[in-house]
Amino acid sequence: TGAAGNSIEIEVPVGTVVYDEATGERVVDLAEPGQRLLVARGGRGGRGNARFVSATHQVPTEHEPGRPGEEKRLRLELKLLADVGLVGFPNAGKSTLISRISAARPKIADYPFTTLEPNLGVVSLADFRSFVVADIPGLIEGAHLGAGLGIQFLRHIERTRLLVHLVDVSEASGRDPVHDFETVMSELASFSEELARKPMLLVATKMDLAPDPSRVAALRNLAGERGLPFLEISSATGLGIDALKFAMASRVLSPDSVRK
Ligand code: GDP
Ligand code: MG
Repeated sequence: TGAAGNSIEIEVPVGTVVYDEATGERVVDLAEPGQRLLVARGGRGGRGNARFVSATHQVPTEHEPGRPGEEKRLRLELKLLADVGLVGFPNAGKSTLISRISAARPKIADYPFTTLEPNLGVVSLADFRSFVVADIPGLIEGAHLGAGLGIQFLRHIERTRLLVHLVDVSEASGRDPVHDFETVMSELASFSEELARKPMLLVATKMDLAPDPSRVAALRNLAGERGLPFLEISSATGLGIDALKFAMASRVLSPDSVRK
């Protein structure tokens, strides 16, 4: 706030969340374009010397102090606005998929914990429509870095409209896909029930790596039980990638939408 009742207006990107630094309280979630918020009232200016001039009092020294404006320390946090959030165990192939379907080039490595911050990728369709996919490291990936970090990551996917849950079905992984799926689901649910109930596609990854048919079948059955669409992909060969892009697009884009 400025002096004399002047207000200072600052513009922030859509998706900014304002927190009161002192209390940690969320002041407002600026999710809509054009939203305005008065965070602190300006002070009132006092009267200066000139205001005390009169015919008999030409050089006044009097003045009047102003009243200070409100003061507040605020923390602004930018929530990312992705349409689709990729979730899954470390190494499930999230970063590889995002590099396959967008121009984003996240770090990819054959060991967990490579993604320490969310990566965003814009997926463009042939008809010029596009949507944003976020490769979000989950709680499991954040957990080794200390409590809470994973939760910070998860906050970012609160706003996505669709979750794509990637599960590695390759034999070499030695993992149990159904168990992996359930583990991630309970991680999501422990963060927020709402998150766990978001629309979701279940995707078997690394289909090029001689997947054990029984693992794939078990995962497909699980998808059936839960009423989730089931897709099989390989980011290495491109198998199923177009179908996945289409499945995502049809859920996050309205038929006539064009992202500006
Ligand atoms: P993230 O931890 O879920 O982001 O997993 P990454 O995308 O970093 O992938 C982990 C490892 O799996 C990397 O070595 C990738 O090259 C490999 N990978 C990912 N997708 C595929 C795939 O479709 N086929 C094969 N053969 N390897 C893959
Ligand atoms: Mg990754």
